[in-house]
Amino acid sequence: MYRLTDSLLKVHGVGPKLFEQLQDAKFSTVKDLLLHLPFRYEDRSERFTIDQVKQLADSPEKKLFTLEAIVKSSRNNFFRGRSMQSATLVDETGQITASWFNNPYVVKRLKNGESYLFSGQVGISKKGQIFLTQPIVEDINKESIHTNRLVPIYSNIPGLLPTVLRKVQKDLIDNIEEIPDKLGSLDLVSSQSDISPLSLTKALKIVHFPDEIDSVIEARERFALEELVLLIQHSLYLKEEWKKNKKTIQTQNKKLNIPSTIPFQLTTSQQRSAQEVIDDLTQDSPMNRLLIGDVGSGKTIVAGLAMQKIVESGHHAAIIAPTQILAEQHTKTLQKFFPEIPNYLITSKSKVKIEKPGFIIGTHAILNLIKKLKEERTGPSIALIIFDEQHRFGVTQRSELVHHDIHPHILTMTATPIPRSLMLTIFSHLNLSTIDELPKNRVPTKTWVLPETKRGSMYQWLKDQIKKGKKEGVQFQALIVCPFINPSESEALENVAAAKEMFESVSKELKTEIKKSAITVSLLHSKIKKAEKQQVITDLFSGKIDVLVTTPIIEVGVDLPQASAIVIEASERFGLASLHQLRGRVGRAGQQGYCLLFSNSKSGDAHKRLKKFETIHSGQELAELDLENRGAGDLFGTQQHGFDNLQFASWTDLELIRKAKSIIEQLNKNKAKYQSPLLKVSIETKVLAN
Ligand code: ADP
Ligand code: MG
Repeated sequence: MYRLTDSLLKVHGVGPKLFEQLQDAKFSTVKDLLLHLPFRYEDRSERFTIDQVKQLADSPEKKLFTLEAIVKSSRNNFFRGRSMQSATLVDETGQITASWFNNPYVVKRLKNGESYLFSGQVGISKKGQIFLTQPIVEDINKESIHTNRLVPIYSNIPGLLPTVLRKVQKDLIDNIEEIPDKLGSLDLVSSQSDISPLSLTKALKIVHFPDEIDSVIEARERFALEELVLLIQHSLYLKEEWKKNKKTIQTQNKKLNIPSTIPFQLTTSQQRSAQEVIDDLTQDSPMNRLLIGDVGSGKTIVAGLAMQKIVESGHHAAIIAPTQILAEQHTKTLQKFFPEIPNYLITSKSKVKIEKPGFIIGTHAILNLIKKLKEERTGPSIALIIFDEQHRFGVTQRSELVHHDIHPHILTMTATPIPRSLMLTIFSHLNLSTIDELPKNRVPTKTWVLPETKRGSMYQWLKDQIKKGKKEGVQFQALIVCPFINPSESEALENVAAAKEMFESVSKELKTEIKKSAITVSLLHSKIKKAEKQQVITDLFSGKIDVLVTTPIIEVGVDLPQASAIVIEASERFGLASLHQLRGRVGRAGQQGYCLLFSNSKSGDAHKRLKKFETIHSGQELAELDLENRGAGDLFGTQQHGFDNLQFASWTDLELIRKAKSIIEQLNKNKAKYQSPLLKVSIETKVLAN
């Protein structure tokens, strides 16, 4: 009998040479190889007579035939310098030839007059003769491995014949010791549970050598369940760790007080979220909260109210924005909302003197500042850090944020809706607040997917709108966004090139009537000189620019109240959640917004996906669609998360996730921790982990 931890060298039929090949492919133990699951199965279970094989030979459906036949004769041949083998097979219905390439062993093995099982495809020779090509041969009195059943097909391991691999797997499955499995035996879970997982041993047996294809689904789910249980458990562990003996700044006053300088009434969800955050600040363990709110839902003010509480208690509150543009905008907004509180705008070069407790605003440069402040050890500590629109949340290790031995409260704000499944699993250690309504004055942005042929009319329409706006004294600002995928250097350059080109043509199209009412077109991308960029941004906010051609640098967070239309080029290259972010840039002052999508894609699926975007205005719904269509990594636009590397489970399987969750709850009730004999947590959640 084998144990999971046994070396494969112990396994019957694995000699030193095979072992070396397995090791080269990173398979050392029985467990390693058993986790190499088949990716599909071939149904070789149905038996055919020779006559049937001949009749079905040219039918399109049947590709594989398994038959039992007697060997009449077999021989080695040479054909154009290659060794070939053939055998004449008979049964009571007829006679057929089987042929092999370069397999002298088969002739040695086949004994005339004996019956064997043959399984393979059928070929038709030029003369119209039907023959079996390279059939697998098995003895009839032994249990079948390669024929006469559902046959597992494994992804190739270099140097191993599929039949050799399958034989080893069969030997493992037949001789594996029962795996001690507390989940499967319900040892840990209350017996009243309606969940009764298969045992791991059984699941492995089914998945490698199933009797029927339907059972494979349940068996695979068993591994998925194992994975999810571990994942959720790990996430909860992080949550506990986060709370442990962490010195933090505890504010005293729980009351939400909204300064009269705030020019609008908070929505109910804004108030609720702000209260949740402020309540956290009064706890004796540091906050770790995620605030999700659609673009334009008003997260900034929620951040501001929490920051205000911290400053009132004599400490600094920091907000980290993804771009300099946004940091500057936050500075202006917060100054307007909280005129009494000092603002420190941090840039990579700036030498701001930070004295009185206040708002520290900047990009990631703030993290360097924190490092520096650590050494100085004077002045107020940074007691709250807010990450705004960090698509890459989790990149920062929490230990880097500890300042004056104080573990800061962390609030992460995002417009990227996190699908339920992720929230229940890898993010379950974060507390969640959601702003699920937009300020009352908003109307849904009208959205259209346009074919290239409509480009001319689009320009005309833009021109008309802008001119009309000018006449009526309400600016109609438009953004034209050129594609962008990942911030790799080469792609970034491509984006810039595309934006430049677009700028040329837009300028040509729109600037024709310069005399009467000049339309100003500007260009903004990451490679523009800093001073120039600054000018463009200033002009943009002050309304001197009518049309801005840009890369998705504009995507995150920027609040341009007068922006009314956004045109997105090569829109099929964006995920729906990203498109939603972009769309959220317009119509923010209550005016009708427009979102026009051009797409170069010839694929019908891409078009269908975009068409859905015309009518769906819920970020959450769009994120779930992204998850189905493009996987989880895409939602966050970076590879750093490893969200995609679930080995067995799928992010869209909410039901199984719930099952895992309820198992965890029962485990917790019994104060038990689950240790898997088979899997490790396959996801490194770095979400401010340690
Ligand atoms: P986001 O959630 O995308 O960060 P912002 O905080 O930038 O949204 O807010 C978007 C715009 O809506 C800003 O101009 C802000 O002043 C305004 N706003 C926020 N809350 C309200 C509200 N309750 N009523 C009206 N306008 C609001
Ligand atoms: Mg924002």
